[in-house]
Amino acid sequence: MSEQKTALVTGANKGIGYEIAGGLGRLGWSIGVGARDEERREAAVAKLLAAGVDAFGVPLDVTDDASVTAAAALTENRTGRLDVLVNNAGITGGTAQLPTTVDVETVRTAVETNVIGVIRVTNAMLPLLRRSPSPRIVNVSSSVGSLTLQTTPGAETGPISVAYAPTKTFLNAVTVQYAKELQDTNILINAACPGYCATDLNGFRGFRTPQQGATIAIRLATLPDDGPTGGFFDEDGEVPW
Ligand code: NAP
Repeated sequence: MSEQKTALVTGANKGIGYEIAGGLGRLGWSIGVGARDEERREAAVAKLLAAGVDAFGVPLDVTDDASVTAAAALTENRTGRLDVLVNNAGITGGTAQLPTTVDVETVRTAVETNVIGVIRVTNAMLPLLRRSPSPRIVNVSSSVGSLTLQTTPGAETGPISVAYAPTKTFLNAVTVQYAKELQDTNILINAACPGYCATDLNGFRGFRTPQQGATIAIRLATLPDDGPTGGFFDEDGEVPW
C-alpha cells in the first residue's frame, strides 16, 4: 500500500468538487477526480496536474451500479488505498419544484443522485476506506435541508423545492444512520454545508466562491481521530438539523 493518502471526490470536474479536489491535492494527497463526462473529467485532471496536484481521473456516474463498482476497482488498482471519500456530486433537478405541480420524475431523479448515489458510492468504497488508519467520509449537503431553518420564519432557505431541499434532509438523515452503524470504527462521517456558492448549480448566483464552499468539506475530510461524527457543519460550526 502506498504511503501517500488518497481521496476520491465525486462530481469533481467543476464547482465546489473541483475546489475540494484541489484543496486536498495541495496537502500532497493523491486525488481521484470522479466525474461522468470524459471530456470534462480529463480537462479537470489536466488542470489539477498542471497545478501540481497528483490527480487521476475516475469515470463515475453515481446513479449507475456498474460505474460505481468500476470506480472502486480503479481506485484500488491505482493506489491500493482510500482515506477520504467526499460525496459531492449533486443536482437540483431544475426550478419547477412546487409540491403541488412538480413532475414526480424530478423528485425521483434528485433522490437517485443526491441520496441513493451517496449510499451506492459509500458502500462500494467502504472496503477500501476500512483499510485506512483514519478514514473520513464527507457528504456535501446544504442548509436548505435543515428542517429547523425551513420552519423558522425569515430564515433564508431559497425557493420552495420539493425535490432538492428534501434530498439534503434525507442525506443528513442517512449520514446520521451511517455514523450510528460505524460508531465503533475509526471512520468519521459528517455532512457539510458549503454555503451559497456561485456555480453551475444555481446559474452562478451564489455570493460565495467555490473555493470558500470547499473549505468545510476539506476541514471534515482532515478531522483528527477524536473529531466529530454524525454531525452537520458549515464553516461557522454546527448547522441545525
Ligand atoms: P455543480 O458545479 O453543478 O457541480 C455538480 C457536480 O456534480 C458536477 O461535477 C456534476 O457533473 C456532478 N454530478 C451530477 N450528477 C452526477 C452523477 N449522476 N454522477 C456523477 N457526477 C454527477 O454544483 P456545485 O454547486 O459545485 O455542487 C456541488 C455540491 O454542493 C452538490 O451536492 C450541491 O448540492 C452542494 N451545494 C451547493 C451549493 C451552492 O450554492 N452551489 C450550496 C449548498 C450545497 P456533470 O458536469 O457531469 O454534470
